[in-house]
Amino acid sequence: MNGTTLSMRNLALFGPPGSGKGTQAQLLAERLGMEHIATGDMLREERSRGTELGQMVSSYLSSGKLVPDEVIVAMIRQRLQQSQPERGFVLDGFPRTANQARALTEMLDSLERPLDLVAVLDVGKEQIAGRLALRAQKEGRDDDSPDIVEERIKVYREQAEPVLQVLADSIPVVRLNGNQAVEEVHRQLLESLT
Ligand code: AMP
Repeated sequence: MNGTTLSMRNLALFGPPGSGKGTQAQLLAERLGMEHIATGDMLREERSRGTELGQMVSSYLSSGKLVPDEVIVAMIRQRLQQSQPERGFVLDGFPRTANQARALTEMLDSLERPLDLVAVLDVGKEQIAGRLALRAQKEGRDDDSPDIVEERIKVYREQAEPVLQVLADSIPVVRLNGNQAVEEVHRQLLESLT
């Protein structure tokens, strides 16, 4: 913690698979106490616990396709209701469709906790491939294999603009170069948040 005073506390991180959303969200959580809300992690956790939800989403996770909006929106609604407003949150991997973005804005309006900022981590295709190959070795995620990565990047490309269009109506959007060192991206994120 470096004593930074944040005036903005609720953030959505946006970017292709392997752009560093998880790493940056984790850093903000560790250093500022923000809640890290990662839909992918939540779904993988449900799957590994073998819950009804986990069984239902398993094939989406393995194929790199998006889980249906109503499923993910219900899950995130419950999660946000349990969160502590004073900590602020970082959304990682949500929203991923225009419908999810609309549902999120409504949800946060009714909770009176609007999003303060959307930060897009821009990363080139080559970097993505390299980073995900490394992650596949380290973490063994079944959706980091080359053909599924291709599918996930395609899904991101199709949905990114519609999502940002919905959000940019009411929320500031900053674009950061995600190819920089982890600490530099973190520093720029903090700067954008203050
Ligand atoms: P991630 O860990 O964010 O890369 O997400 C892994 C997988 O979880 C995705 O490929 C989707 O199958 C599913 N997933 C995560 N977040 C969402 C979301 N917001 N909407 C739909 N599916 C999601």
